[in-house]
Amino acid sequence: MRVLMIAPPGAGKGTQGARIAAHFGVPHLATGDLLRRHVALGTSLGRAVQEHLDRGDLVPDGVMQDLVRRSLADATADGGGYVLDGYPRTPAQAWAAYRIAASLDATAHVALHLRTDDDEVVRRLLARSAIEHRTDDTEPVIRRRLALYHRVTEPILQWYRYRGILLSVDGMPEPDRVTSTVVSALRYRRPCPDPVPVPLAA
Ligand code: ADP
Repeated sequence: MRVLMIAPPGAGKGTQGARIAAHFGVPHLATGDLLRRHVALGTSLGRAVQEHLDRGDLVPDGVMQDLVRRSLADATADGGGYVLDGYPRTPAQAWAAYRIAASLDATAHVALHLRTDDDEVVRRLLARSAIEHRTDDTEPVIRRRLALYHRVTEPILQWYRYRGILLSVDGMPEPDRVTSTVVSALRYRRPCPDPVPVPLAA
């Protein structure tokens, strides 16, 4: 199973992505986690991206492409699947995700979208900030990440809908219900060969 996860901050991408990946026995590749690991380890990539993360801005495309290409190449080396969580987030990234996956003969079967309510995700993220202390979980930065999601990420859903691989699920019920809805929808979905898409304007 090869899944791209597209959802706003606070929608439960991390939780659901890990559960779906475990269910199908594939790696969960979460771009935010990969980036935060680099920051925590103080690598040169981590130092280069830290400010972007702290401000809630997108990390530059070139950096993301290298990171995603390496992760997907490792994940698919033995013919395996993946749950790629947090990429793509822009039209240019959607096209890059397709090109990278196509070069590995591992294009996505499904683009999974979790639908949410803005006020609820702000509430969730503020509650999480008391526990996890992520530098980008302050209210102004949360609002900025949400605005960015609506402006540049949401429009790419249409591209996946048009290609017939979009699965859009209500992300508002409690986590176990969301997981079982997604798992049953994915289990009964016949993996279809991904049609060569019309290029997406960046
Ligand atoms: P959230 O979806 O709650 O913002 P993530 O952990 O997925 O959380 O991402 C955290 C941060 O990592 C983003 O705000 C951004 O700075 C960076 N990031 C993650 N994925 C990408 C991406 N595909 N493109 C650019 N930046 C990214």
